[in-house]
Amino acid sequence: MILLRTPLFVTAAALAASTLFTSCDTKPATASEAVGSPAATAEAVAADSAGKPVTSGTVATTAAEANATPAPDPKSIAAGSMADAATITARPQVPILCYHQIRNWRPKDSKGAKDYIVPEQAFKDQIKMLADSGYHTILPDQLYAYLTTGAKLPSKPIMLTFDDTDLDQFTVARPTLDKYGYKAVYFIMTVSLGRPNYMSKAQVKQLSDEGNVIGSHTWDHHNVKKYQGQDWVTQIEKPTKTLEEITGKKINYFAYPFGLWNQQAIPELKKRGFVGAFILAEKRDPIDPLFTIRRIIASGYWSPRTLHNSIVQSF
Ligand SMILES: [Zn+2]
Repeated sequence: MILLRTPLFVTAAALAASTLFTSCDTKPATASEAVGSPAATAEAVAADSAGKPVTSGTVATTAAEANATPAPDPKSIAAGSMADAATITARPQVPILCYHQIRNWRPKDSKGAKDYIVPEQAFKDQIKMLADSGYHTILPDQLYAYLTTGAKLPSKPIMLTFDDTDLDQFTVARPTLDKYGYKAVYFIMTVSLGRPNYMSKAQVKQLSDEGNVIGSHTWDHHNVKKYQGQDWVTQIEKPTKTLEEITGKKINYFAYPFGLWNQQAIPELKKRGFVGAFILAEKRDPIDPLFTIRRIIASGYWSPRTLHNSIVQSF
Protein backbone atom coordinates (compact mmCIF):
# COMPACT_ATOMS: atom_id res chain seq x y z
CA MET A 1 0.00 0.00 0.00
CA ILE A 2 1.08 3.57 -0.57
CA LEU A 3 1.36 4.13 3.18
CA LEU A 4 3.85 1.32 3.38
CA ARG A 5 5.63 1.92 0.14
CA THR A 6 6.55 5.52 0.81
CA PRO A 7 8.47 5.03 4.05
CA LEU A 8 10.14 1.98 2.56
CA PHE A 9 11.53 3.90 -0.31
CA VAL A 10 12.50 6.85 1.77
CA THR A 11 14.47 4.48 3.95
CA ALA A 12 15.89 2.59 1.02
CA ALA A 13 16.96 5.77 -0.68
CA ALA A 14 18.55 7.07 2.49
CA LEU A 15 20.40 3.80 2.90
CA ALA A 16 21.44 3.87 -0.71
CA ALA A 17 23.22 7.10 -0.02
CA SER A 18 25.00 5.76 3.04
CA THR A 19 25.20 2.06 3.77
CA LEU A 20 24.21 -0.01 0.80
CA PHE A 21 26.35 1.47 -1.87
CA THR A 22 29.54 2.16 -0.02
CA SER A 23 31.38 -0.53 -1.90
CA CYS A 24 32.27 0.35 -5.42
CA ASP A 25 30.81 -2.75 -6.98
CA THR A 26 27.27 -1.80 -6.09
CA LYS A 27 27.58 1.81 -6.96
CA PRO A 28 24.53 2.44 -9.12
CA ALA A 29 25.35 3.51 -12.60
CA THR A 30 25.01 7.15 -12.30
CA ALA A 31 27.90 6.09 -14.50
CA SER A 32 28.74 8.22 -17.45
CA GLU A 33 27.94 5.33 -19.72
CA ALA A 34 24.34 5.09 -18.56
CA VAL A 35 23.73 8.75 -19.18
CA GLY A 36 26.13 9.78 -21.88
CA SER A 37 26.54 7.09 -24.45
CA PRO A 38 24.07 4.89 -26.25
CA ALA A 39 23.51 1.40 -24.92
CA ALA A 40 25.38 -1.36 -26.62
CA THR A 41 23.22 -3.74 -28.55
CA ALA A 42 22.62 -7.03 -26.83
CA GLU A 43 24.32 -8.78 -29.71
CA ALA A 44 27.46 -6.71 -29.27
CA VAL A 45 27.48 -7.47 -25.57
CA ALA A 46 27.01 -11.15 -26.27
CA ALA A 47 29.85 -11.13 -28.75
CA ASP A 48 32.06 -9.23 -26.30
CA SER A 49 31.40 -11.40 -23.32
CA ALA A 50 31.32 -14.81 -24.86
CA GLY A 51 33.90 -14.18 -27.56
CA LYS A 52 31.42 -15.28 -30.16
CA PRO A 53 27.84 -14.39 -30.93
CA VAL A 54 25.18 -16.53 -29.35
CA THR A 55 21.68 -16.81 -30.71
CA SER A 56 18.79 -16.50 -28.32
CA GLY A 57 17.12 -19.56 -29.85
CA THR A 58 20.00 -21.77 -28.73
CA VAL A 59 19.99 -20.18 -25.31
CA ALA A 60 16.28 -20.76 -24.77
CA THR A 61 16.64 -24.48 -25.46
CA THR A 62 19.63 -24.80 -23.20
CA ALA A 63 17.97 -22.81 -20.44
CA ALA A 64 15.01 -25.15 -20.51
CA GLU A 65 17.37 -28.13 -20.30
CA ALA A 66 19.24 -26.55 -17.43
CA ASN A 67 16.01 -25.99 -15.54
CA ALA A 68 15.02 -29.61 -16.08
CA THR A 69 17.85 -30.85 -13.85
CA PRO A 70 16.52 -30.89 -10.30
CA ALA A 71 18.89 -29.99 -7.50
CA PRO A 72 18.91 -32.14 -4.38
CA ASP A 73 16.93 -31.04 -1.34
CA PRO A 74 19.51 -29.06 0.65
CA LYS A 75 18.60 -30.95 3.80
CA SER A 76 19.40 -34.26 2.11
CA ILE A 77 23.05 -33.25 1.85
CA ALA A 78 24.83 -34.82 4.81
CA ALA A 79 26.66 -32.34 7.01
CA GLY A 80 29.76 -34.53 6.87
CA SER A 81 29.97 -34.30 3.09
CA MET A 82 29.67 -30.53 2.98
CA ALA A 83 32.58 -28.28 2.13
CA ASP A 84 33.93 -26.05 4.89
CA ALA A 85 33.45 -22.29 4.91
CA ALA A 86 36.85 -21.58 3.39
CA THR A 87 36.18 -23.92 0.46
CA ILE A 88 32.74 -22.40 -0.08
CA THR A 89 34.16 -18.89 -0.01
CA ALA A 90 36.89 -19.85 -2.47
CA ARG A 91 34.49 -21.10 -5.15
CA PRO A 92 33.74 -18.59 -7.92
CA GLN A 93 30.60 -16.64 -6.98
CA VAL A 94 27.50 -17.02 -9.10
CA PRO A 95 26.19 -13.58 -10.11
CA ILE A 96 22.91 -12.80 -8.38
CA LEU A 97 20.74 -9.83 -9.33
CA CYS A 98 18.21 -8.17 -7.07
CA TYR A 99 15.18 -6.38 -8.49
CA HIS A 100 12.36 -4.49 -6.79
CA GLN A 101 9.78 -2.61 -8.88
CA ILE A 102 9.58 -3.07 -12.65
CA ARG A 103 7.62 -0.06 -13.89
CA ASN A 104 8.08 3.19 -15.73
CA TRP A 105 9.39 6.11 -13.71
CA ARG A 106 6.91 8.68 -12.42
CA PRO A 107 7.65 12.36 -11.89
CA LYS A 108 7.59 11.98 -8.11
CA ASP A 109 10.12 9.13 -8.05
CA SER A 110 13.25 10.35 -6.31
CA LYS A 111 16.71 9.99 -7.78
CA GLY A 112 17.58 7.36 -5.17
CA ALA A 113 14.36 5.41 -5.67
CA LYS A 114 15.11 4.96 -9.36
CA ASP A 115 17.85 2.48 -8.47
CA TYR A 116 15.02 0.30 -7.20
CA ILE A 117 12.59 0.97 -10.05
CA VAL A 118 13.57 -0.51 -13.40
CA PRO A 119 11.47 0.80 -16.30
CA GLU A 120 9.70 -1.94 -18.23
CA GLN A 121 11.69 -1.63 -21.43
CA ALA A 122 14.98 -1.36 -19.54
CA PHE A 123 14.09 -4.57 -17.71
CA LYS A 124 13.22 -6.35 -20.95
CA ASP A 125 16.48 -5.17 -22.49
CA GLN A 126 18.47 -6.34 -19.46
CA ILE A 127 16.92 -9.81 -19.55
CA LYS A 128 17.33 -10.09 -23.32
CA MET A 129 21.00 -9.23 -22.90
CA LEU A 130 21.38 -12.05 -20.37
CA ALA A 131 19.72 -14.52 -22.74
CA ASP A 132 21.68 -13.33 -25.77
CA SER A 133 24.89 -13.57 -23.74
CA GLY A 134 24.18 -17.20 -22.88
CA TYR A 135 23.32 -16.89 -19.20
CA HIS A 136 21.30 -19.66 -17.58
CA THR A 137 19.20 -18.94 -14.53
CA ILE A 138 19.73 -21.17 -11.53
CA LEU A 139 17.73 -21.51 -8.32
CA PRO A 140 18.89 -21.51 -4.69
CA ASP A 141 18.99 -25.29 -4.28
CA GLN A 142 21.33 -25.51 -7.27
CA LEU A 143 23.51 -22.79 -5.78
CA TYR A 144 23.49 -24.56 -2.41
CA ALA A 145 24.54 -27.88 -3.97
CA TYR A 146 27.28 -26.11 -5.92
CA LEU A 147 28.62 -24.25 -2.89
CA THR A 148 28.44 -27.15 -0.44
CA THR A 149 29.37 -30.11 -2.67
CA GLY A 150 30.83 -28.63 -5.83
CA ALA A 151 27.83 -29.87 -7.87
CA LYS A 152 27.94 -28.84 -11.50
CA LEU A 153 26.02 -25.77 -12.70
CA PRO A 154 24.88 -24.88 -16.22
CA SER A 155 27.29 -22.70 -18.17
CA LYS A 156 27.16 -18.97 -17.35
CA PRO A 157 24.90 -19.39 -14.34
CA ILE A 158 23.03 -16.42 -12.90
CA MET A 159 20.31 -16.02 -10.30
CA LEU A 160 17.49 -13.49 -10.59
CA THR A 161 15.81 -12.38 -7.38
CA PHE A 162 12.83 -10.10 -6.78
CA ASP A 163 12.17 -8.51 -3.38
CA ASP A 164 9.17 -6.96 -1.66
CA THR A 165 6.15 -8.60 -3.35
CA ASP A 166 5.51 -5.87 -5.96
CA LEU A 167 2.70 -6.77 -8.37
CA ASP A 168 4.70 -5.80 -11.46
CA GLN A 169 7.05 -8.68 -10.71
CA PHE A 170 4.13 -10.94 -11.61
CA THR A 171 2.62 -8.89 -14.42
CA VAL A 172 5.80 -7.68 -16.13
CA ALA A 173 8.84 -9.65 -14.99
CA ARG A 174 7.23 -13.09 -15.04
CA PRO A 175 6.13 -13.03 -18.72
CA THR A 176 9.49 -11.58 -19.72
CA LEU A 177 11.38 -14.36 -17.96
CA ASP A 178 9.01 -16.99 -19.39
CA LYS A 179 10.02 -15.92 -22.88
CA TYR A 180 13.54 -17.18 -22.22
CA GLY A 181 12.71 -20.17 -20.03
CA TYR A 182 14.12 -18.31 -17.02
CA LYS A 183 13.14 -19.02 -13.42
CA ALA A 184 13.58 -16.69 -10.46
CA VAL A 185 13.42 -16.27 -6.71
CA TYR A 186 10.74 -14.07 -5.15
CA PHE A 187 11.43 -12.86 -1.60
CA ILE A 188 8.04 -12.06 -0.16
CA MET A 189 7.20 -9.50 2.53
CA THR A 190 3.95 -10.98 3.80
CA VAL A 191 2.31 -7.80 5.17
CA SER A 192 1.81 -6.69 1.55
CA LEU A 193 0.09 -9.80 0.23
CA GLY A 194 -3.20 -8.88 -1.43
CA ARG A 195 -2.76 -5.13 -1.03
CA PRO A 196 -3.13 -2.84 -4.06
CA ASN A 197 0.00 -2.93 -6.24
CA TYR A 198 1.29 -6.05 -4.51
CA MET A 199 0.92 -9.71 -5.36
CA SER A 200 -1.89 -11.84 -4.00
CA LYS A 201 -1.44 -15.18 -2.28
CA ALA A 202 -2.76 -16.88 -5.43
CA GLN A 203 -0.11 -15.17 -7.55
CA VAL A 204 2.65 -16.21 -5.17
CA LYS A 205 1.35 -19.77 -5.31
CA GLN A 206 1.29 -19.64 -9.09
CA LEU A 207 4.92 -18.48 -9.21
CA SER A 208 5.85 -21.37 -6.94
CA ASP A 209 3.82 -23.90 -8.94
CA GLU A 210 5.51 -22.71 -12.12
CA GLY A 211 8.92 -23.68 -10.79
CA ASN A 212 10.10 -20.43 -9.25
CA VAL A 213 11.30 -20.31 -5.65
CA ILE A 214 9.56 -18.35 -2.93
CA GLY A 215 11.76 -17.00 -0.15
CA SER A 216 11.08 -15.22 3.12
CA HIS A 217 11.61 -11.45 3.44
CA THR A 218 10.01 -10.73 6.84
CA TRP A 219 6.53 -9.57 7.73
CA ASP A 220 6.94 -5.81 7.24
CA HIS A 221 10.55 -5.21 6.28
CA HIS A 222 12.03 -4.27 9.63
CA ASN A 223 15.81 -4.28 9.96
CA VAL A 224 17.01 -7.67 11.23
CA LYS A 225 19.81 -6.03 13.23
CA LYS A 226 17.24 -4.58 15.60
CA TYR A 227 15.27 -7.74 16.39
CA GLN A 228 14.78 -8.80 19.97
CA GLY A 229 12.77 -11.64 21.50
CA GLN A 230 9.31 -11.78 19.94
CA ASP A 231 10.46 -9.96 16.80
CA TRP A 232 11.87 -13.26 15.53
CA VAL A 233 8.43 -14.78 15.71
CA THR A 234 6.63 -11.80 14.17
CA GLN A 235 9.14 -11.07 11.43
CA ILE A 236 10.49 -14.52 10.61
CA GLU A 237 8.57 -17.48 12.01
CA LYS A 238 4.98 -16.46 11.27
CA PRO A 239 5.56 -15.00 7.79
CA THR A 240 7.60 -18.03 6.77
CA LYS A 241 4.85 -20.37 7.96
CA THR A 242 2.35 -18.29 5.96
CA LEU A 243 4.49 -18.73 2.84
CA GLU A 244 4.76 -22.47 3.45
CA GLU A 245 0.97 -22.67 3.73
CA ILE A 246 0.53 -20.69 0.50
CA THR A 247 3.05 -22.68 -1.54
CA GLY A 248 2.75 -26.08 0.13
CA LYS A 249 6.55 -26.17 0.15
CA LYS A 250 9.28 -25.72 2.72
CA ILE A 251 10.76 -22.21 2.65
CA ASN A 252 14.53 -22.63 2.91
CA TYR A 253 15.93 -19.21 2.00
CA PHE A 254 15.77 -15.71 3.44
CA ALA A 255 16.71 -12.24 2.20
CA TYR A 256 17.64 -9.59 4.77
CA PRO A 257 15.62 -6.36 4.37
CA PHE A 258 17.93 -3.64 3.03
CA GLY A 259 20.60 -6.37 2.88
CA LEU A 260 21.37 -5.59 6.53
CA TRP A 261 22.50 -8.47 8.76
CA ASN A 262 24.62 -9.18 11.78
CA GLN A 263 26.31 -12.19 13.37
CA GLN A 264 23.50 -12.67 15.89
CA ALA A 265 20.91 -13.13 13.13
CA ILE A 266 22.58 -16.18 11.62
CA PRO A 267 21.98 -18.72 14.43
CA GLU A 268 18.41 -17.38 14.74
CA LEU A 269 17.80 -18.14 11.06
CA LYS A 270 19.48 -21.57 11.27
CA LYS A 271 17.37 -22.44 14.29
CA ARG A 272 14.26 -21.75 12.22
CA GLY A 273 15.24 -24.10 9.43
CA PHE A 274 16.78 -21.78 6.85
CA VAL A 275 19.76 -23.13 4.91
CA GLY A 276 20.82 -19.89 3.26
CA ALA A 277 20.33 -16.12 3.38
CA PHE A 278 20.99 -13.32 0.94
CA ILE A 279 22.61 -9.94 1.57
CA LEU A 280 23.47 -7.20 -0.91
CA ALA A 281 26.93 -6.37 -2.18
CA GLU A 282 28.90 -6.15 1.05
CA LYS A 283 31.52 -8.75 1.93
CA ARG A 284 30.41 -12.24 2.89
CA ASP A 285 30.94 -13.56 6.38
CA PRO A 286 34.00 -15.85 6.27
CA ILE A 287 32.48 -18.17 8.87
CA ASP A 288 28.95 -18.31 7.42
CA PRO A 289 29.15 -17.63 3.69
CA LEU A 290 25.87 -19.50 3.08
CA PHE A 291 24.05 -16.94 5.25
CA THR A 292 25.68 -13.98 3.56
CA ILE A 293 25.24 -14.75 -0.13
CA ARG A 294 25.92 -11.61 -2.17
CA ARG A 295 23.58 -9.94 -4.65
CA ILE A 296 23.77 -6.70 -6.58
CA ILE A 297 20.81 -4.43 -7.20
CA ALA A 298 20.19 -4.14 -10.93
CA SER A 299 19.61 -0.41 -11.12
CA GLY A 300 16.89 1.29 -13.11
CA TYR A 301 19.61 3.51 -14.57
CA TRP A 302 21.54 0.62 -16.09
CA SER A 303 21.76 -0.11 -19.77
CA PRO A 304 22.31 -3.76 -20.71
CA ARG A 305 26.01 -2.98 -21.11
CA THR A 306 26.27 -1.42 -17.66
CA LEU A 307 24.52 -4.41 -16.18
CA HIS A 308 26.87 -6.76 -17.97
CA ASN A 309 29.92 -4.84 -16.74
CA SER A 310 28.56 -4.89 -13.20
CA ILE A 311 27.99 -8.63 -13.32
CA VAL A 312 31.52 -9.26 -14.50
CA GLN A 313 33.10 -6.85 -12.01
CA SER A 314 31.03 -7.64 -8.92
CA PHE A 315 31.27 -11.42 -8.71
ZN1 LIG B 1 13.13 -5.66 0.63
